[in-house]
Amino acid sequence: MQLNTLSELSMTAAVDAQTYRYLFERTADGVIVVDADGAIEQVNPAAVALLGITSEQARGQKAASLFRNNLALVNLFKRTGDQVMDVHLPRRRLALGIASELVNGGRLVMLQDVTEQRKLDSRREELITRMAHDLRNPLMAMGGFAELVETMGDLTVQQQHFITRIRQTATKMYDVAASLVDLAWIEAGLPMQHRPFRLEEQIRRTIVDLEKLAHERRIAIAFSVQDPMPPVMGDPDRMYMVIYQLLQNAILYSEPDSTVAIHAWGDGYDMYCTVADQGIGISDNELHLIFDRLYRSGDTRVQAVPGGGLGLTLAKKIVLRHGGDIWVASNLGDGSTFTFVLPAIRA
Ligand code: ADP
Repeated sequence: MQLNTLSELSMTAAVDAQTYRYLFERTADGVIVVDADGAIEQVNPAAVALLGITSEQARGQKAASLFRNNLALVNLFKRTGDQVMDVHLPRRRLALGIASELVNGGRLVMLQDVTEQRKLDSRREELITRMAHDLRNPLMAMGGFAELVETMGDLTVQQQHFITRIRQTATKMYDVAASLVDLAWIEAGLPMQHRPFRLEEQIRRTIVDLEKLAHERRIAIAFSVQDPMPPVMGDPDRMYMVIYQLLQNAILYSEPDSTVAIHAWGDGYDMYCTVADQGIGISDNELHLIFDRLYRSGDTRVQAVPGGGLGLTLAKKIVLRHGGDIWVASNLGDGSTFTFVLPAIRA
């Protein structure tokens, strides 16, 4: 039997001593156990292979002294509490090191070889960055040249009209290209930040950034948040994109002199956020389509708004990657309420 990670297996089942021994010997993860004084008690064959040591050499030695040339590895043994960090291995390999405290005061350090995975990630990352550059630069240039023509002398009304259209189209294509690049990033499963953050800060940031658009369209933004709110785990900048998308849509698909309301609250398990508008609404037969890639309603009021039909697709992907969910309730002509939920960090 080929085992992948000891962590996966030990999390799925309570293991008895014999099973543990079997897993310890056969897993592809390196495992090293030290006692409360930092002396190595156990080292499995995978750790021996990954670190280029022998078990005789390791057993009984202080981990901090045996691995003194590998600072990250030493930190995994020396720091208290759970620790996760990258560890460089011999032969230019890279491991994700995960350290946990044991009840007897010792520590267990696991090393997962992530060399190939990281190489693949960085190739994908490079490809997407190049794609972003190749798409965005010509569009920026198009808009720039159109502006330049405007400065070159008096234009006829018709010429000015065409130049304005070129600039608007370039801006629209630039936005679509940006969403496509973001979508490619998320779909390639590329790394996102993974840290605790407060969603209300991202909501406030979004409101500030969309204030001008709301003002131009005579839309009031109401915001209420439970105090205190549970923190959530993930990528604050990506979640900002989700809220931005929902709030921007709410403003764009609303009639002037109406209100858009954002409300956020949480319990011990989840954190909820709703963005509600009193706008044009979505018909029942389109509700299940709006999160699909490139879908835009055929409604003339939607078609009058520039857009690429990618915003909600991207928002949904981001929320799902955070372990949450997103949905909408709407009545045509009455408005829509988008809700997303994220797992809260338990106190
Ligand atoms: P875009 O807004 O660029 O068209 P989205 O993916 O953000 O793309 O939205 C997809 C479609 O969902 C929109 O074209 C519109 O038909 C509908 N939609 C999204 N948000 C709202 C809203 N708040 N009110 C009414 N319709 C909406």
